[in-house]
Amino acid sequence: MKAVVKKEAGYGAELSEVAIPETGQDEVMIKVKSTSICGTDFHIYSWDDWAKENIVPPQIMGHEVAGEVVKIGARVTSVQVGDFVSAETHIPCGQCYQCQTGKQHICNDLKILGVHTDGVFADYAVLKEVVAWKNDPAIPATYASVQEPLGNAIDTILAGDVAGKNVLIVGAGPAGLLATGVARAFGATKIIVSEPNQYRRNIADAMGADLMVNPLAENLEEVVSDATGGVGVDFVAEMSGHPLALNQGLRSITAGGQMALLGLPTEKVLLDLSADVIFKGIKLIGITGREMFKTWHLAARLIKEKRLDLEPVITHQFPLEQFAKGMELMQNGNCGKILLIP
Ligand SMILES: [Zn+2]
Ligand SMILES: [Zn+2]
Repeated sequence: MKAVVKKEAGYGAELSEVAIPETGQDEVMIKVKSTSICGTDFHIYSWDDWAKENIVPPQIMGHEVAGEVVKIGARVTSVQVGDFVSAETHIPCGQCYQCQTGKQHICNDLKILGVHTDGVFADYAVLKEVVAWKNDPAIPATYASVQEPLGNAIDTILAGDVAGKNVLIVGAGPAGLLATGVARAFGATKIIVSEPNQYRRNIADAMGADLMVNPLAENLEEVVSDATGGVGVDFVAEMSGHPLALNQGLRSITAGGQMALLGLPTEKVLLDLSADVIFKGIKLIGITGREMFKTWHLAARLIKEKRLDLEPVITHQFPLEQFAKGMELMQNGNCGKILLIP
């Protein structure tokens, strides 16, 4: 089968002919119908410090996927051949304290699809039964693979209990754009999106943002203050991981407000905890992965009942062979979600 393989340490990846993987007793094999590129894939492709520490090449890339089950292992009971599935990418151990207390997504012995295991940028992929999510056949494959990052956005926005609140979304990459749509769907009153890239600000507009700010040209804190009658926002979704943006977001919150952090800073971030967190009574919430499987139920519902339109976020679609084109777009930022179709 063909697969996008991270062959060795260093920039890039290769389209290779590889053997179809074996299906273990507790695994299912899918014929891949659609995949999408995640920020994580770009970290691996460009071989940044995070990738150097976490990836052991050679390995098939990718984790956002939808496909048809073509084979099941002997012990698999919840999925049948012919089912249309997506993959939760956090593979829990099922044994640890977190797994036993309903927090599988932050399992103490977590494996991530396409990070610690072979991924899905291929004709076929093997998934553990425990992470195979059965899709409603009414959901198109091109949307089904995007449920995974949509789950990140849902988890982030749910942390803010945003109904009736004013919300600032910092960073409008695919996760920030999805979060904009989710905040709209969950009833936020005013949604402000801070993003330096014009292309992405336009998509944020289409996803339901009320106000788009270029933080390089305008003073974000002033704009937020003006837009909220001098109060500040109730909730910030930090999707950028940029230290400066993170601090701007933090200072835009009204006292007693909350900030959920999904964007991953690549370095240590300096915060004025006394002035910006403690004296303001701010709650900071770290978000990783998606609550399993609550966010999948919500993602599927939002898509199926058309409460969230993914169309503006999905900006490009390429055949798998042209994965490098997608990675180039990820580099320059003039994109939302990019689909790769085998
Ligand atoms: Zn992802
Ligand atoms: Zn565990």
